[in-house]
Amino acid sequence: MGARIVDRAFVLDLLNDLVATNSVNPDVGNGPGESALSNLLLERLSVVTDLEVRQQHVTGDRSNVVAVLRGSGGGRSLMLNGHMDTVGVEGMSIEPFRPVVRDGFIHGRGTCDMKSAIAAMIGAAKSLAGSESKLRGDLILSFVVDEEHMSLGITKLVEEYKADAAIVGEPTEMRIATAHKGFVWIEVETKGRAAHGSVPEKGVDAIVHAAKIVTRLNELQDKLRAHRHPLLGPPKIHTSTIQGGTHWSIVPDRCVLRLERRTVPGETTALVMKEIEELLDSIRLEDSNFKGEARKIFERPPLEISPNEPIVQTLQQTITEAIGTDQSPVGVPYWTDGAILSHSASIPTCLFGPGDISVAHSPDEYVDAEDVLQAADIYRNIAQKFCA
Ligand SMILES: [Zn+2]
Repeated sequence: MGARIVDRAFVLDLLNDLVATNSVNPDVGNGPGESALSNLLLERLSVVTDLEVRQQHVTGDRSNVVAVLRGSGGGRSLMLNGHMDTVGVEGMSIEPFRPVVRDGFIHGRGTCDMKSAIAAMIGAAKSLAGSESKLRGDLILSFVVDEEHMSLGITKLVEEYKADAAIVGEPTEMRIATAHKGFVWIEVETKGRAAHGSVPEKGVDAIVHAAKIVTRLNELQDKLRAHRHPLLGPPKIHTSTIQGGTHWSIVPDRCVLRLERRTVPGETTALVMKEIEELLDSIRLEDSNFKGEARKIFERPPLEISPNEPIVQTLQQTITEAIGTDQSPVGVPYWTDGAILSHSASIPTCLFGPGDISVAHSPDEYVDAEDVLQAADIYRNIAQKFCA
């Protein structure tokens, strides 16, 4: 491994302390939340010369942490973003909050998703803050609460902060990711007519009606294959939950089916709802007793950034220089706060971070220490190029 620019010991010690600080999301894993971690980050960032550091209150005792390295003026600003919360620790096969290093890998909850990116970003900022070559544009570090649940932190952040581009440090295996899917949660309620089980022909079975919807989802999925996205593949739909019926001897008069539709860039919620309406119409045509109504419960947009955006080109070049092989952009399978930065705040946003998402929420979460250090160098170099 080559010589590192950033302070190796500083980044690894900081990562150790971040992982040792339990920040399990209260709504995902019944955890204490981010408040201890937010305070720790405030304290550690405050001792870095030249950084303007503050907490931004979000809700209850939950606060984002924002640190700005002011540029000398006239350059582009860059935001490096990460989330402080993690998923729960139930079923973990390792000690979640006592990080251990084995064969160059650091194990613990949040090592991969995504405390290593946070440590790497701070290492990058510290090395720039202490350097001669001052940036012209601002470098903004933003560490937010609640990404794993309702994205309350990023939603609050974008009310106050803007940048010319952003990088979210989600685990991308050191690749640049320029797209991910969005999703729409849909509830479909079917209505029937209750009747006694001894005379079911007098009733209309709402569960049977919901089943008709379920059996047509395969057809819909086949149609969706035509909307394939080059980096993300086809949009997807699946059933989530079904609830209906009250008693053994009563024909159910109501059933609620929940569906999740994963959207690719370019697909709107209106389009998704229209597909479901058409599916319900096709059942109505065949069965005049069918009563079903669909409603949107929740939605999150997809993320896509053009390969021609300066942040994508500069980041791609920076990673390629560091890693040696040509680093073309990839798509990732999971949703991120990047979609809010890009949609709500119109900040050109891509993803780059150490770690492999497949171990992120798993019983043994880990990250390659050398990747963390290399990511720190890359965050530093991209800031130097982009904010020059
Ligand atoms: Zn994450």
